[in-house]
Order: sequence, then C-alpha cells, then structure tokens
Amino acid sequence: MISIEEALARILSYVDVLPAEEKPLLEALGQVLDEDISATFDIPPLDNTAMDGYAVRAADTTGATGASPITLRVIGEVAAGYEYEGEVERGTAVRIMTGAPIPAGADSIVPFEETDEPFDHAPSGTGRLTATAVKVLKEARPGANIRRAAEDITAGQMVVPKGTVLRASEIGVIASLGRAAVRVIPRPVVAVLSTGDELLEPGQERSGARIFDANAHSVGSLVERYGGMPRLLGIAKDTVADLTAKIHKGWGADILVTSAGVSRGDYDVVKDVLASEGQVDFWTVAMKPGKPLAFGCFYPEGDEGRRVPHIGLPGNPVSSMVAFELFGRPAMMKMMGKRDWRRPMVRAIAEDEITNRDDPRVFLARCFVTERDGKFYASLTGSQGSGILTSMMRANALTLIPAEVDVVEPGEEIDVIMLDWTRGEEWGSYLTSD
Ligand code: AMP
Ligand code: MG
Repeated sequence: MISIEEALARILSYVDVLPAEEKPLLEALGQVLDEDISATFDIPPLDNTAMDGYAVRAADTTGATGASPITLRVIGEVAAGYEYEGEVERGTAVRIMTGAPIPAGADSIVPFEETDEPFDHAPSGTGRLTATAVKVLKEARPGANIRRAAEDITAGQMVVPKGTVLRASEIGVIASLGRAAVRVIPRPVVAVLSTGDELLEPGQERSGARIFDANAHSVGSLVERYGGMPRLLGIAKDTVADLTAKIHKGWGADILVTSAGVSRGDYDVVKDVLASEGQVDFWTVAMKPGKPLAFGCFYPEGDEGRRVPHIGLPGNPVSSMVAFELFGRPAMMKMMGKRDWRRPMVRAIAEDEITNRDDPRVFLARCFVTERDGKFYASLTGSQGSGILTSMMRANALTLIPAEVDVVEPGEEIDVIMLDWTRGEEWGSYLTSD
C-alpha cells in the first residue's frame, strides 16, 4: 500500500504542462497566461470627466452660491467617444457627458447637480440642452471630477505577467488593452471511460441487475468544473475486444480516466487489457474510500514521443469521485500550468463520532461544514459506504482523519478539505456575518 502523497507524486511525475495556445478571451478564463501583457497606450487615454455636467474654468465660478449663481455661456456639448474641437474661454462652459475628454481651456467639471439643469424651462423630463446659458450654484475646485490620463495604466507598463491565472478582472483588463486573444495554457481534454457489463447509459431502459453509469457523469462534471474538457467514451464491456477498442478512442485525449475494474477479484480482463496496451501499475493507496487505483501511461503507436497518462479510478461511485478529487484534479491542474492546486483546508469541530479503527488508511469521510460564531463545524452526511453516492451529494467537504487515529469524538478538531463553500443557508447578506 502506498500513501496518498506518494501516489500523487508518481502521477504528477508523468504529467506535463500542455503547450500554450492562442485563445479568445472568454475561453482563457481560469487558464494560465503564457505571455507578459503590456500596455501600448495609456488608460484612460485622455483626461476625461467622471461626471455628467459642465466643463468650466474654475476661476470663472469663484463666489458662486445657490443664492448668487454665476451664469456661463454654453458654447457646445461633448459626449463620451468624441473630442470637443473648440476651447472653453472665459465665461463659457461646454456641456459634457461622463467619459468625454476635457475640452481645451477647461480645468474643472461642475456636475449637473451644482447647476440649474434640468432647466426650469426645459421640456419636462428631457433636461436636454436647449439653453445657451447655465447657472453655476457652487464654486468649482480646479481638477474637480476629472479622471487623469494614465491614472490606471501607463503606456509601456507590464500589466498582467506570464503565469497569472486569469480571472474575470484580468480578462477585463486585457480586453481594455485591446487584445481579443491571448496565449494561455489550454484546457486538457480528459477522456472518460466507464467499464462494466452491469452499466447502462442514463436514458436507456433499465431492468434486473443493470445499473446506470454514474461515474462518467460525476467525473466528467468534475473535469468540466475544474476547467478541463471531458470527452465521454461511453461504457466498455468487460471483454478484451471492447475494452481495447474503447481505450484506443481515448488516445487522442491529453489524459485518459477510466473507472472500475481495478479492485481485487474483478474480471482480470480489465487489468490485462490496461497492462498489455500500456505501462500500467495497480496500486493500493492508503485512503478510504478509493483504495484500488491504477495508474500508467499509454504510448500510442505511430505517434512518436506521445504519452497519454491514464488514471484508473475505482468503480464505486464515491471512491471514483474522491480519487478523482485527490489525483485527477491535481493532474489536470499541472497540465494547465497551475502551481497551486491545493483545495482550501480548514480546522473544523467534529459534530459526530468518526471511527477509523484498525484501518491503516486516511479516512476521507463525507461531511458538511457549517460556520457558526467564527468556527467551522463538520457533521457526517450519513452512511459512509463507498457505494452511497448521496453521501457525496450532501457533502461540501472531506475529512482528513490520519490513519493512526482510531476515533474522533464529537467536539474534537479535525482537518477538512473544502470541496466548495456552500454553507446551506438561505440567501445571506453581504453586510452581516453570522
Ligand atoms: P468494480 O471496480 O468493477 O469492481 O466496481 C465496483 C462497484 O462499483 C460495483 O458495485 C460496480 O457495479 C460499481 N460501478 C462500477 N462502475 C460504475 C459506474 N460507472 N457507475 C456506477 N457504479 C459503478
Ligand atoms: Mg466491474
């Protein structure tokens, strides 16, 4: 039996970072940037207004109040995206919309709220420029409401460095720099194959001892969730011919994931086929669930130097998901060039007794973690059998009970791996923590 760490290290040693590709921005979300992105121009490109109002010379407004307003002559109007051709001279103003460049001569923006606009005499509700004059009700400070050129980004500046995992905000910044596509490490194509004579595709007619294929869909969903592209290869029968044919279909992928057929006492045909078609090891990993695991590589004929890593997940639906979390996900993360693939871990107070007596394996029990008064609490999600997939459905975390611990009493602290941060509450509030 090998440890989780050792199994993971071995798997990762066979997985390479994928070669970078140019991708349209939205497809780059969540991927690792493979180039430095620099600015070729200033952002904003010109001084512009942060408010709708009037571009004025501040000195012209000295002494203006509601009781004794100062009247300026309105000489024109400018909207975002346009430049005002003339100049604001003494005693004049240009009506201006948010984002529009500051006209020459002006040094301050008086917002509408500090003028008599909407004008009493304007047609109701329009507030449009009909007047040739505006009353300023308050002194303007020089520079007021002006956003300066390059206040965000300066031409020549390196803005997003190579290696960044692109989030929505980086995608937005890159778009504002004018780039429609970027070089990123692409999403791996993950071929997913289920094996077993008992399996049916969801949607088929069920009878007798047949069961539906859960694993391809749960694991395929994890692949999608973690940024990969699942390619479902369907179900292989436990025969040499069928299994061989289906495995070959996975060789075009970046990684092949199979489920079932790796436990002791299974039909040897699965192991035989994997072993004869590639270099595959069968391991027992010191974890519960998910003990039997196959790992290896295929070297497709006629494709010199190509290596397709293979992870053979256990068949039991919980084991299959947990093993994918622990091994498949990091493998995907490495392929995508991510350096930090760890899940958030927290210390939580056990609410149930958790027993792991006489078992030399790490116990990854399914639990639901809640947060109360600044502390995390973990309660088990019912029967922990590795065939009970609803225990996974009700969980948002896995416990990490070390092999040497026999029993955890309620109230003791344990480590939990968060699978997501759903806390099961009604719609919460951003403003109050509970
Ligand atoms: P095996 O590893 O083939 O011995 O399978 C272990 C258990 O997992 C058996 O009860 C199988 O029926 C079940 N199993 C295997 N593959 C799947 C699957 N794709 N979906 C649901 N259950 C499965
Ligand atoms: Mg089987």
